[in-house]
Amino acid sequence: MAEVNEKRLVDRFLKMVSIDSPSSQEREMADFLKNELQTLGFEVEEDDAGRDLLQMTGDMQGAKTIRFTGNLIARKKGSLSDVPPVMFAAHMDTVVSNKGVQATVQDGVIRTDGRTILGADDKAGIAALLEAAQLMEEQKLPHGPLEFVFTIAEESGLNGARLLDKQKLSAKFGFVMDSGGPPHVVIGASPGEVDFSVKLYGKAAHAGVNPEDGINVLSAAGLALSNLTLGRIDEETTCNIGIIKGGERTNIVCDYVELWGEVRSRNKDKLTWQLAKIQTAFATACEKFGARFEMEEQPIYDGFQLTEGDEVVQIAFEGAKKAGMTPQLAARGGGSDTNIFNAAGIPSVNLGVGAANDHTNEETVTVQDLRLATQLVLGIVQTVAERTGAGVAR
Ligand SMILES: [Zn+2]
Repeated sequence: MAEVNEKRLVDRFLKMVSIDSPSSQEREMADFLKNELQTLGFEVEEDDAGRDLLQMTGDMQGAKTIRFTGNLIARKKGSLSDVPPVMFAAHMDTVVSNKGVQATVQDGVIRTDGRTILGADDKAGIAALLEAAQLMEEQKLPHGPLEFVFTIAEESGLNGARLLDKQKLSAKFGFVMDSGGPPHVVIGASPGEVDFSVKLYGKAAHAGVNPEDGINVLSAAGLALSNLTLGRIDEETTCNIGIIKGGERTNIVCDYVELWGEVRSRNKDKLTWQLAKIQTAFATACEKFGARFEMEEQPIYDGFQLTEGDEVVQIAFEGAKKAGMTPQLAARGGGSDTNIFNAAGIPSVNLGVGAANDHTNEETVTVQDLRLATQLVLGIVQTVAERTGAGVAR
């Protein structure tokens, strides 16, 4: 395994961390990356995802002043011709701004001064990919065709990956460098998610004069909720109602209430079943009180479930072993671009890049995990080459 240039890896990571890139403001980050990738011999294409996203969200007012950013698709021909192309992906945006970030490296741990997030989610993934690409170039490591995809707006709902034209990708497998936790953990399963809202309509009446003429929807909502299990439903399914709003005054019988929630499951049937249960609970309760309700469902993303029998998992495992790690297959409760790539027919796993406490000001990453993530990338590239027999002779 090629030796990682730790100083260069950390310096580049810190440079990227210093570029503020919250969702939909990735322009500077994309320009930096384009330049780096071109220097490393990649051809870089930028798509129209940024413009499409703004059009979707409807605010084209003042759009002229916005410097759109698209997803970047960077391609590099391999030195080995009969090896299938492999995709690596990471997202360019961070969950919030980290403007004014002060990052330090102490005892091998990188963190901020506690006033901003670090942005190791997902710049640790990008740093690993760039260092791996530089090592491949420098040390003339044999490899097949590479497709590096850098998405925008992942944190705002996987929007960049969603808007990416997957036909542009020729890779048979995808490795997304975007999981918290150590690089030996391969995320092979993640739930699908459907969000929903329930609107309950009752009848208003004066609470003191003629309450018997009213229909209080809070009673109906209460009954429905008391008949539902929320939280963890089973090992692979969760359900939450997180928002409830309604009512106007204490002296009016409450005639309107709205609830918002989500169901997640790695099992599609269970997800559908849980939504049906919610529907039934509100139907039964509304019937009892003479209220009416509407339920709307909004699919957010599909889940995926890969096993050790899947080739993409086997390649990730083999790559991890080459990097000196003992791989472990795990499931994760949240969604990532990996969900989108799997749904598009590119079997993909999400790999740990070592970002801990991500989405908080206590976010850290260790130099060791940055190095291991880099070696994992090299290990995977080498494994793909060997599997087709092309890399073995060298
Ligand atoms: Zn992330």
